[in-house]
Amino acid sequence: MPIDLIIHSANQLLTLAGDAPKRGATQGELSIIRDGALAISGEKIVAVGDTLDILSLADSHTRKINARGKIVLPGFVDAHTHVVFAGDRANEFDMRLQGATYLDIQQAGGGIMSTVRATRAASVEELVAQSRTRLDTMLAHGTTTTEVKTGYGLDTANELKMLDAIARLDTDHAIDLIPTFLGAHVVPAEFKGREDEYVELVVTEMLPIIDRRRKTQDGLSRSSVLCPPSLFCDVFCDEGAFTLEQTRRILTRAKELGFSLRVHADEFANLGAATLAAELGAASADHLMVTRREEMRAMAKSNVVAVLLPGTTFGLGKTNFADGRAFVEENVPVALGSDFNPGTCWCESMPFIIALACRYEKLTPAEALVAVTINAAYSLGIAEQVGSLTPGKLADVLIADVPDYRHLAYRFGANPIEMVIKRGRLVQSFDSALVT
Ligand SMILES: [Zn+2]
Repeated sequence: MPIDLIIHSANQLLTLAGDAPKRGATQGELSIIRDGALAISGEKIVAVGDTLDILSLADSHTRKINARGKIVLPGFVDAHTHVVFAGDRANEFDMRLQGATYLDIQQAGGGIMSTVRATRAASVEELVAQSRTRLDTMLAHGTTTTEVKTGYGLDTANELKMLDAIARLDTDHAIDLIPTFLGAHVVPAEFKGREDEYVELVVTEMLPIIDRRRKTQDGLSRSSVLCPPSLFCDVFCDEGAFTLEQTRRILTRAKELGFSLRVHADEFANLGAATLAAELGAASADHLMVTRREEMRAMAKSNVVAVLLPGTTFGLGKTNFADGRAFVEENVPVALGSDFNPGTCWCESMPFIIALACRYEKLTPAEALVAVTINAAYSLGIAEQVGSLTPGKLADVLIADVPDYRHLAYRFGANPIEMVIKRGRLVQSFDSALVT
């Protein structure tokens, strides 16, 4: 087979090879090759190993990238975002700095509902255009696959519009997008006092319509290898959002229809959502800032991935970060997400999320790198395609201009990612002279 591209002479090539998910003692297993190289043919990685061995595969048309003094690693997989929306909420940030709480802002008509109003008013083209520039920045910081939630439509037509925008961006943009239906993000203002009626709308109208569209492949997934076996359904279970019983009702119906499950759990109050995630066999429970040890043990038993989102805690100016160390100790696979959203965390940079997770959630740099690659991919049902540098997987590869992987956690605030290769194609390069 023709070898199109070889990346060679890496100080450290982090393969992340081995079983997924990684947890407990293997949460920090990077499987590093020193003076490592990899060969790419078309969209796929075809060989990984020592530089001398891999260079011997080159032919006259093979392009080469010399990564001497640098590290090479899999593209980042962002396990939790709300990157598709219209408008921004810089004004609320200012209010919060002057003492307003998340609930104060929500009760004043701000919060998620202000993004819902802007998103409902936007055409699908406007949504795509605004979101594309954010995806460009994510790609420049090394994200090659991202989960994206709906949840700013909150009626059937606008939730479908969001799914359309996500599908279009997935087709047009280099980043692969994995959609999650989050019709139960917050109860929309027009259902105030009639919360259970909104839950019934989600259960009896939105879920079946979205399920039918998914089954007919009507714009919800691209014809690519990178497509999880089922669409995800998520619920924001917390004070000011949905109760545990409402969450159970929605997720149980979603599971019956064949959706995989994710849950916003334990961000502000512990309503029992992490335990529910374990009981229902959810793919992930996310946030987890106030989760108890016995709930972690239940998650470990059911293979629920803990998706930690330190950017949100930081974005809110709070200090009650999730206890990442405890999840590792309790053998729960840990992934990280940016939680990119207009209210609490406008952050495109996974390297910054890694820096936060190491300082405040007590992950080691190696554990955090597993969390943003193979474990995030596993939580999205795509660990067979991405998340490690393994022959047969998509060639989603980063070159970082640092001599050792620990620098990705040690440094912060600047972008260490020098080159991004997505599906075998060089899509971002800050030094094209390196390609020969
Ligand atoms: Zn979220």
